[in-house]
Amino acid sequence: MPEAKAERIVHLDRLTSREVGEWMKTNDVIFVPHGPISGHGAWTTLGMHPHGAEAIAVLLARKCNGLVFPPLHTCFAGATRMYPGSVPFSYEYHVQTLKRVAHTLYQQGFGRILLLAFTNPEDMAGAVAARDLFDLEGELPVAALHATRGMESPAVKQLLGECGLDVGEAVMDYAAMRLLGYGRPVAEPQLALQGLPHGQDRNPEIREALYTLGIRGTRGFRYDAEHEHSSHGTVGQQWQGQPDIELGLKILEALAEWLLPAVEALKHHRDWLKAHPAKRVEKQAILGQ
Ligand SMILES: [Zn+2]
Repeated sequence: MPEAKAERIVHLDRLTSREVGEWMKTNDVIFVPHGPISGHGAWTTLGMHPHGAEAIAVLLARKCNGLVFPPLHTCFAGATRMYPGSVPFSYEYHVQTLKRVAHTLYQQGFGRILLLAFTNPEDMAGAVAARDLFDLEGELPVAALHATRGMESPAVKQLLGECGLDVGEAVMDYAAMRLLGYGRPVAEPQLALQGLPHGQDRNPEIREALYTLGIRGTRGFRYDAEHEHSSHGTVGQQWQGQPDIELGLKILEALAEWLLPAVEALKHHRDWLKAHPAKRVEKQAILGQ
């Protein structure tokens, strides 16, 4: 049997400087996955968000011959801080780190830098960093991506509609760990098979108040019990005669495919800006032209 073709090494830290120098002759794309170490209940790991971000970054890098910066874990972790093992950082610190990494990569010669968040709350830090780096810090070629917005894409919706399973962060976590080469047995397999109902996991005494605030704006909150923030879908079921982790891999792949057009769009915008330097807006003789 012929040996499977080895995948190209995409992680920046696993390449030599010579290899990166060679690569830079033909490409300039680097993904920066970032996400918190945050509690997710009994069977989804603390690293679910950075696992998802890194796995999707690897898939994207393979598609566009890009590279992947080591995932940043010094991130805002939201409401999960009372879970053992959650390690929260402020948004301010998170944004500063992303901006420092982006500036340094840009100075090194990377021409397209994509800050990749799997989901919220870390997406907000990516968005703030990308806006500051553009609007106030020299129109750097940096974009922030939010992977799970692609859960609404037709390809993912079709997978979710067909599978008949309770798909959430749990199955994508185990799939991401597999893809990254550190797959593990499912924790609490009996609980993971059953899952928990979605949507009712908040404490009923404050559920309505937080909903009222959340729909009108933003309010911080915290999880106080293990069943809160535990409904992330099942894992360990069968999907089309194979383990559901295969479905998780398909969803990660579909999310990467959905994000991919951002890579060329960033090039187009960057090059247009270069050809059209910023200048003061003047009075227009005829508005509307
Ligand atoms: Zn999560």
